[in-house]
Amino acid sequence: MAIQKPRGTQDILPSTIANWHYIEGRIRKLCKTYGFQEIRTPMFEETGLFLRGIGETTDVVQKEMYSFPTGDKKEQTYTLRPENTASAVRAYLENKIYGQEALTKWFYIGPMFRHDKPQAGRYRQFHQFGVEVLGTQAPMADAEVIMLVLQLFKDFGLKDLSVEVNSVGCPNCRPAYRDKLIAFFEPKKDQLCDDCKSRLYKNPLRILDCKNESCKALTIGVPEIHENLCDECHDHFEELKQYLTAAGVNYNVNPRLVRGLDYYTKTAFEVQYAPLGSQSAVAGGGRYDGLVEELDGPHTPAVGFAMGMERLLLALEKQGLLPEEVQEPSVFVVSLGDAAKVAGFTLVKELRERYIIAETSGEAKSMKSQLKHANKINAKYVIIVGDDELARREAILRDMENGEQETVAIDAIVDRVTSLVKG
Ligand code: AMP
Repeated sequence: MAIQKPRGTQDILPSTIANWHYIEGRIRKLCKTYGFQEIRTPMFEETGLFLRGIGETTDVVQKEMYSFPTGDKKEQTYTLRPENTASAVRAYLENKIYGQEALTKWFYIGPMFRHDKPQAGRYRQFHQFGVEVLGTQAPMADAEVIMLVLQLFKDFGLKDLSVEVNSVGCPNCRPAYRDKLIAFFEPKKDQLCDDCKSRLYKNPLRILDCKNESCKALTIGVPEIHENLCDECHDHFEELKQYLTAAGVNYNVNPRLVRGLDYYTKTAFEVQYAPLGSQSAVAGGGRYDGLVEELDGPHTPAVGFAMGMERLLLALEKQGLLPEEVQEPSVFVVSLGDAAKVAGFTLVKELRERYIIAETSGEAKSMKSQLKHANKINAKYVIIVGDDELARREAILRDMENGEQETVAIDAIVDRVTSLVKG
């Protein structure tokens, strides 16, 4: 059996690359509007970054990381990044960005790697677009980040999205809430799924968003996080909701939304697109006020989100919202004879120097088969150079749309084609 791509990965072939360019182009434009600058961090980092940054009890760290020896030091491993926030914070610290600007607004686009069970919309190598705002406590920043995601979806023409928001508290109020959760679930411990049994003492909040039906049933009557927030978290959440309401966002407060990564404080949010079924979460994020300090940096409140680009593409495809690729006019040079072939080669070179899409064939082929090639590249113009025409320093220029032909001097044909193509 020939070697195949690894499970859960995809080849992005020329037939679909235009879709990626389309979404990436729009993302870059929107990020610029919102004042975000692009960063690119390594695709692998020291494993410890993710252990500390994402949290040792999370599914991502416990089950989904691809780690391998660094090859330098025994025992030391690298991990393919399962997400980009920890790396962004590492880069923020390592490059001492905090000393250079009070507010940092970054975005990234790139592949992430998780050893997940592959299915439609869930891959082992997938792409995320995400933003990070570092250096502000203000709930307005949380609102802006949510607005950016929503504007992006809206501009793509996607409707029927739902936005869920929650506050997951902070180190002041969460420990007491955590204890209440443990006290609540302890008597029902035996009925919890295996994952939740192990979460009970390590990370009981995660029980709240367990997808297992029997665990869901056990959460009935659970103490609500909103009744257990400290004043600061409560006020922060109220202010965020005020901005969202002012912006006309139709959001739901979901007290069960806790999200998979440990670093979230205060705001957590998720955008769902129901037609995607079990993988309906297209974007998720929140505030992570403690992460920079956790990674040995100065106290730096921050907020961000990540969006799954494959899921966005699936949603756009489902709704028929991916644009038809616009063909730029291209030129094919048909050459008949050895001298004509060299002339054709130089014509193509000159056209390409002017950024006009041009092709010719290096094979000695008939007129008919070269015209077939021209059709395949959808050539708008064909230049025909035969040895006879060449002897007269001429070539034939044919407009493939209307079939009209003209004879043009070889020395003038590049200018003539340029004026036709570029106007
Ligand atoms: P997370 O980093 O887990 O908060 O995920 C943020 C977004 O990334 C999700 O809402 C998904 O759209 C996307 N995502 C996460 N994991 C995967 C995966 N294994 N395959 C495809 N997309 C994913």
